[in-house]
Amino acid sequence: MNSNYKTLVQKSLDGQTFSRDEALSVLNLPEAEVPALIESVYPVRKKYKGNTVAIQILSNMRSGNCSQDCVYCAQAHDSKADIQKYRMLPLDKLLAEGKTAQAKHISRHCIGISGIRFSDDDISGIADYVRSLKKETGMEICCSIGFLSREQAKMLKEAGVNRINHNLNTSRRFYPSICSTHTYEERIANIKMLQEAGFEICCGGIIGLGETVEDNVDMLFDLRAIDPESVPINFLIPISGTGMQDADTSGLSPEYCLKVLCLARLLCPQKDIRATAGRELYLKGYEKEMLMIADSIFASGYLTADGQSIDKTIEMVRAAGFDYRIE
Ligand code: SF4
Repeated sequence: MNSNYKTLVQKSLDGQTFSRDEALSVLNLPEAEVPALIESVYPVRKKYKGNTVAIQILSNMRSGNCSQDCVYCAQAHDSKADIQKYRMLPLDKLLAEGKTAQAKHISRHCIGISGIRFSDDDISGIADYVRSLKKETGMEICCSIGFLSREQAKMLKEAGVNRINHNLNTSRRFYPSICSTHTYEERIANIKMLQEAGFEICCGGIIGLGETVEDNVDMLFDLRAIDPESVPINFLIPISGTGMQDADTSGLSPEYCLKVLCLARLLCPQKDIRATAGRELYLKGYEKEMLMIADSIFASGYLTADGQSIDKTIEMVRAAGFDYRIE
């Protein structure tokens, strides 16, 4: 087994892909072999990302009242989660969050916007916010947003949005189990359109929704095919009031989470592999191991779930022996 993943590491370093069965063997490795797996995969991370970690913050520009039924999401139309709901965060609050991040040399400001489809007026308002942020902080801006028309994509591009986050979330097979109001294919088509419009893409998924190990492999292969700049891997935080509040998260052992990050790194060696929501919950005490694979993390929370503060995140990165990078 050991030599098997060493072969995969070499293939990854040589820019070759590998089979679904080979990928599956990584996720099926016994827990006791995970430390050796991480040691083997670390040179791939080191080759492309050195020992640096990009830190981003995530602001929720529009919260709640989404028409969609994504089962894990506190902002879904059928969610009973106790969250703040608002149409637009006041601009001064968004600017304050951006300036705080800028003062601490955080590399990127990511902005979540609940909803799946938007009017041109909505997009025009978002574009105005982005222009203000660009003027005041000059930071790289990523919008996490639903389906856009080509014209709307152009409006955001012209406003200065550098990157768009649009996740696959899970495998094509499992997608209907987590959402009935839009399809996996619509997500893929939206991402392709955004790439044609010239955006960098951030595209990842959520582990722990009740999917199989095979689903995780299939999703990671689809992510590789999309060729995004950033691959965020979330680990389910079961939020009270959502359809996943009683989810069985016993499969999210630190070892399993680390194996998923390793496979993401092997399949997408040159990309930002981002350990996102749930890292604080499932990888506490394994930060060094996490950063030996992932080179990108969020600070200060995840839209509707709390996370580690910016200062604590920087402290954690340094204590693990890594530097945080400015992009
Ligand atoms: S994940 Fe996005 S599209 Fe799905 S319910 Fe939440 S805000 Fe709406």
